[in-house]
Amino acid sequence: MKIYLMTALLALVMPAQLLANTQQQADTTIKYHTNVVFQPNDSRFTADTTLTIPAEKLTHQAIALLLSKQQSVTEISGAQLASSNIESSPRVPPWNRITLNFKNTDQSNYKVRLKYSGAIDEEAGHGNYINAQGAHLSLDSAWHPFIADFATKMTGTLALTVPSNWRVYSPGQQERPTQNTVMIRNQMPAIDVVLFAQQSPQIITTEHVEVIYQGIEAKQAQHLADDATQCLTSLNATMRAENTLDHADLIILDRSGPSFARGPYISMSKSSLSSREADYQYICHELAHNWTPFADAMSHDYWMMESFAEYISAQQLKQRFGKEAYADAVKRWQNLAKGVEFVWRSDDPKRASHRVNYGLGPLLLKRLADRMGADNFEQLLAWYTAHEVTQTEQLLNKIGALTSKETQVWFTHQLAQKTP
Ligand SMILES: [Zn+2]
Repeated sequence: MKIYLMTALLALVMPAQLLANTQQQADTTIKYHTNVVFQPNDSRFTADTTLTIPAEKLTHQAIALLLSKQQSVTEISGAQLASSNIESSPRVPPWNRITLNFKNTDQSNYKVRLKYSGAIDEEAGHGNYINAQGAHLSLDSAWHPFIADFATKMTGTLALTVPSNWRVYSPGQQERPTQNTVMIRNQMPAIDVVLFAQQSPQIITTEHVEVIYQGIEAKQAQHLADDATQCLTSLNATMRAENTLDHADLIILDRSGPSFARGPYISMSKSSLSSREADYQYICHELAHNWTPFADAMSHDYWMMESFAEYISAQQLKQRFGKEAYADAVKRWQNLAKGVEFVWRSDDPKRASHRVNYGLGPLLLKRLADRMGADNFEQLLAWYTAHEVTQTEQLLNKIGALTSKETQVWFTHQLAQKTP
């Protein structure tokens, strides 16, 4: 209470400018400023990036980054840098782990500059590429350095040099100062830097959605655009208002690798499309990620964000296509969950499998909703989507607070046991 009062008082007595400065200091997101020059004819690019790292993100004055081994680093520099070290990542062998050791100072931020260049290995199955027609880049190819814990988020600016006939899609505000240069300022914190570029892309536009597609018919792309618009409108009406999605770019590519969402930027694989109902749920799942807090992608807490997105998307499916379609989705969860060991155990740090994240996890959330009752579960969902719920214990404690210790213990056992 006291702290709240003091903050309120400060807001009253501090001039606006000073307040803005205080807020700026409180911003502890790592910032990147990256210049990228594409050489599409060779599937290559060169990059020059400066990272600004808040002191509180350092552990013993050090931090580790990941970057693909396809990228050769030509420079690591910075006035505050004491030393750096590049070695093979023990967790992901095709990538390098770059450890940065900074000098001991009392500064609030540390800067490092990295220059590197290389190709994108299109044979690796991650769905990233650079070719004469365009580029698709994300964490999956580790084309841009990111923090090795798979959890620390960044915001920043990309300055791209691209062929003049490329259109570029990436989360954030975009400007095109010249035909060959694109600037993208992204203020939405994320663990990686993503972009898609395409020469003369095929596009379907609705009021809130742009579908950029390859390898499917225009008619199907129109369906996807209509479905995305409908689900986006419905999610905006049901989910937390502070986090409204005013538009989305749906990129459907003929590629391998996983689908993913970074707020309004959604990249999907053509091969994952099937029936109209299943596609609707698939799109809703990706859109729902706008409201699911990001847990460490390599930890045993990651199931929450996938299983909640799956649960939310199934509710949307029920709303649009009715109970039978919903029953089919539940059946799919049940099939995936067959033979699965468990969802989460406090003493097992491993990231759960696909079958857990998209099968047993949402199935147990459904069971929890049945036990808690609709109102309580709605409250749980509202709380989950409004807070940085990145650890399963937070969820379990909240379940206890909303219901009873008994229900909390029951759900803890549900998560930890074999499929019944
Ligand atoms: Zn997902």
